[in-house]
Amino acid sequence: MSNVFNWQLGREMEYPYAAAYPDQQFAFVFNTNRCIGCQTCTMACKSTWTFSKGQEYMWWNNVETKPYGGYPQHWDIKTLDLLEQANPGGQRWGGAPTDLKAPYGKFNGKTIFEAARTFLGPGGPNRAVGYLPTDEEWAAPNRYEDHPVSSEAGEKGRYFKGGELLPEHKTWFFYLARICNHCTYPACLAACPRNAIYKRPEDGIVLIDQERCRGYRKCMEACPYKKTYYRGTTRTSEKCIACYPRVEGKDPAGAGQPMVTRCMASCIGQIRLQGLIQLNADGTWRAARHNPLFYLVHVAKVALPLYPQFGTEPNGYYIPPRWVPRPYLRQMFGPAVDEAIENYSVPDRELLAVLQLFGKDPRICDRYEIKEGPKVFETEVRGRKLALYNDTIIGYAKDGTKIIETTVEEPLHLRPQKHANSI
Ligand code: SF4
Ligand code: SF4
Ligand code: SF4
Repeated sequence: MSNVFNWQLGREMEYPYAAAYPDQQFAFVFNTNRCIGCQTCTMACKSTWTFSKGQEYMWWNNVETKPYGGYPQHWDIKTLDLLEQANPGGQRWGGAPTDLKAPYGKFNGKTIFEAARTFLGPGGPNRAVGYLPTDEEWAAPNRYEDHPVSSEAGEKGRYFKGGELLPEHKTWFFYLARICNHCTYPACLAACPRNAIYKRPEDGIVLIDQERCRGYRKCMEACPYKKTYYRGTTRTSEKCIACYPRVEGKDPAGAGQPMVTRCMASCIGQIRLQGLIQLNADGTWRAARHNPLFYLVHVAKVALPLYPQFGTEPNGYYIPPRWVPRPYLRQMFGPAVDEAIENYSVPDRELLAVLQLFGKDPRICDRYEIKEGPKVFETEVRGRKLALYNDTIIGYAKDGTKIIETTVEEPLHLRPQKHANSI
């Protein structure tokens, strides 16, 4: 075991290999508040990469309804439970947030790698605590779709009370879109006895070498997000490849510009923003004040990693849903949830502009600038002032090409009188 620095946990942690960071890291932000569960992303991935024989149950992109849904079923609850068994009562956060090296304070519990050293139940003494899902758990990708839960005492089975108000609804669910997180410390890679899994130095994308893989499924057992899949026809494991030809700028549609992945580009709800993050020598994010992902994660602090306590340092970030009870969200996104929701619910001028970049262009935005416009609206949200300025945000690709220009206020198009009744 080596000691590596995990900034999401605010501390060093044990990992089977020495630290080695890519030049830049594939990363993304999903805004759960805007996901409509339409599964367009899911089908975009399936029709591009997993339409062949033996790939029937592979959903490299999936969208599950929380709290009950999950693919495979109960993947997160099962891993959380294994960690609790390994470290009863100890999975806690502490300390105050400091800088880019500890923005969520310090995690005092055990990661999946650390827990594996002491845990003798299923998953131990492997390189990471985990489990192999059953065939039944992989059988259906969207169980419990649109299935809400009620926190009202004595109201079991009566979900629709109506009159739900922010900040938290008593009856709730939300959609959680997921792909491989192309983790900084991938558990899949750590667990592979064939060294078939590697993390590309040029962009941090995690891939499985199909020549080396023998289908032992150690990756599937170790990945806490359950994002590798076994293919019976080839007897190898496969996973999300982050649409790397597009990220490399090889999709003809991009005319040489690096493009966002298929699942990102097809998102109907415009919930997704993808980027490439420059890293420091210790793996922390290099300050890039006007990179949209850096801004959302480290400046506005509205986007948080998914289950950071697992310890893989996932590179997928989520703007948490506003209406969901906080204890559930703190377990899923860590202790900074309250601040993230407050910042998102009453956005400042810059955040309102940056949120317009989501889903606007299929090329990867590296930098933005904002041109100030007039104030067009003012209100109060739970005692805090919210002002809307019709600013213009301009996005640039890494080579300086202008790729996006859009305003905060959507333009109003009036249907010409001659077409008024034509539908
Ligand atoms: S999400 Fe799972 S499969 Fe993807 S890199 Fe992380 S550990 Fe590996
Ligand atoms: S990034 Fe590409 S390969 Fe990965 S889930 Fe999205 S569409 Fe599929
Ligand atoms: S396409 Fe976008 S809005 Fe639709 S389910 Fe996928 S992430 Fe959600």
